[in-house]
Amino acid sequence: MNTYARLPVSFVSGKGAYLEDSEGKRYLDGLTGLAVVGIGHANERVARALADQAGTLTHTSNLYEIPLQTKLADRLCELSGMEKVFFANSGAEANEAAIKLARLKGNQKGIKKPAVVVMDGSFHGRTMATLTATGNRKVHAGFEPLLSGFVRAPYNDVEAIQQIADNNPDVVGIFVEPVLGEGGIVIPDPEYLAKLRTVCDAHDWLFMLDEVQTGNGRTGKYFAYQHSDCMPDVVTTAKGLGNGMPIGACLARGAAAELFVPGNHGSTFGGNPLACAAGHAVLDEIEEHGLCTRAAELGERILAGLRTGLEGNNAVKEIRGLGLMLAVELNEDAPHLVEAGLAKGVLINVTQGNILRLLPPLTLTDAEADELTAKVVSLVQS
Ligand SMILES: *Cc1c(COP(=O)(O)O)cnc(C)c1O
Repeated sequence: MNTYARLPVSFVSGKGAYLEDSEGKRYLDGLTGLAVVGIGHANERVARALADQAGTLTHTSNLYEIPLQTKLADRLCELSGMEKVFFANSGAEANEAAIKLARLKGNQKGIKKPAVVVMDGSFHGRTMATLTATGNRKVHAGFEPLLSGFVRAPYNDVEAIQQIADNNPDVVGIFVEPVLGEGGIVIPDPEYLAKLRTVCDAHDWLFMLDEVQTGNGRTGKYFAYQHSDCMPDVVTTAKGLGNGMPIGACLARGAAAELFVPGNHGSTFGGNPLACAAGHAVLDEIEEHGLCTRAAELGERILAGLRTGLEGNNAVKEIRGLGLMLAVELNEDAPHLVEAGLAKGVLINVTQGNILRLLPPLTLTDAEADELTAKVVSLVQS
């Protein structure tokens, strides 16, 4: 169906940070299919893991033990400090699990209409619950009635959350991105998450983070909340976890980890051996090559290069980033930069009309990072 205004290019193969189109033209990928192919295209370890697993066992269903899934859950818990994992097939589905946890908690507390605080400018997915949670009118439009049970607040505004706490006894949790992704790489104050954690503790709310985009090393830590001094109750992730294999995960800790019992949530495909094989290969690569630290280094390098290259440019309002979530905010809308990038052989994204967004692979070499920087600088200058 007509869900995407597709660009006039189709890729036939990829290797690392590069893609090749049907005409044989090469592109440096500054977007990785929206923060998905974090360890690069056609990664050999992932390819081997998928081929081996496909030839052994792809799916049995969650009616049976799935050792690869249990082991992947253990690894994610070890990396995050969380305790239990539910596996899904996408970011939206992982987020549905989080929202259901909050509702379960509320209902168990006797709250008839439990509500979750969500932020303006957020993006949580396209299912009915996650599009309702999303703080963007364009995502809602035409799909009314939206779900009840959400309260909206401005992003990066702790005062607003405190006011909600004082006035709304039905709230059972906060669901928030550590950095707004689709919302334009908006990086909150360093204390923001820790302060939200404090409000949640004071009111017995679940502190739930959407790390679908920020997770899996992208911001320079395995999860973005690890830049702050706080622990969430629930964390969701997906995009970078399978390097293109669809997989999502909802991690929880403490009482939140015990809310689901057999019968109240599930997934046919979620956490099957094939998806989990990809997840293990991704974690192996991240660990073996220190890719979280590398993402932080690369982010600094690209940010510095963009700042030097675009210094004094009147079109530029702000250059910002955390790890490999990078943005050049422009003074005016510039959606044409995406196609201009194609012509120059570089893949970038423009979100919110005026924010050039980069989500490159964590496996870039310094030379590739510099090539990306130079191409983006020349694109903005053109
Ligand atoms: C992409 C994204 C989602 C939705 O993930 P899908 O896999 O497309 O369902 C949810 N939350 C955030 C923060 C995202 O960036």
